[in-house]
Amino acid sequence: MITKLYPNGKAKAFNVTYDDGVLQDIRFVALLNKYNLKGTFNLNSGLMENEFEWIHENGCVVKRLSKDKVVSLYQGHEIASHALTHPYMNDLSESEIMYELQADKANLEMLFGREIKGFAVPFDYYSELIESCVKRCDFEYARISEESHSFVPQNDYYKWKATVFHTDATLKELTQQFIKTNEELALFQIVGHSYDLDNQNMWDKIETIFKEIALQKDILPMTTIDIIEYLKAMNQTEITDSYIINNSNISLWFSVNRNAFELKPFEMLYFK
Ligand SMILES: [Zn+2]
Repeated sequence: MITKLYPNGKAKAFNVTYDDGVLQDIRFVALLNKYNLKGTFNLNSGLMENEFEWIHENGCVVKRLSKDKVVSLYQGHEIASHALTHPYMNDLSESEIMYELQADKANLEMLFGREIKGFAVPFDYYSELIESCVKRCDFEYARISEESHSFVPQNDYYKWKATVFHTDATLKELTQQFIKTNEELALFQIVGHSYDLDNQNMWDKIETIFKEIALQKDILPMTTIDIIEYLKAMNQTEITDSYIINNSNISLWFSVNRNAFELKPFEMLYFK
């Protein structure tokens, strides 16, 4: 039996995707780094001046990180766009949406010196128009604000749902289910804002989850874009009873009768 695996022959992948680039990300990234986990950070480059602050609906003051802090902080993690100024995108015209996306992508690419390939929708407004703008701006995916509550990887990269919001009551239970699941290419992705960890006194809870995930030898920490590029490549493979062809330019991993192996870019494997 042929089973699809993640890189290095791992059965499952884990990611956290956190929004808004706030002060608490300093403590949060330190926690990810402590457990060798991978984050995706969705930033608004138009709100990075002067430690921009706002009052959250629960009364807490939230501060954004300024430009001089972000580059070194997020090293080793993915940076994605969250639009230039975190607008209510349903209020914007097509040209305003395009500007919010293009300007943020260009600013982040300049600031971080790398290609920005992902987009996370601010608030929870999404539409066909926003989706078409995201595609025209050459983003490879758009993470929307709905949760999947599932370990099956999403197949629509422009309506990508993370598994669970970090304040959701099912977080702990889903973590346990993920550790036990045998789902092929199982993926667990936690979405949130690190200021909630302060506001809701959740630092210990999230660390317990990270520690448990880090202890599992079959889980690979990955960024969202690495997961999506891997899944895209996996979808291009030809798998039959007698051969597998890797039609992509990255290495893919499989197991046959529980023996894991790597199939190099554009390689073919025959079964006897
Ligand atoms: Zn946001």
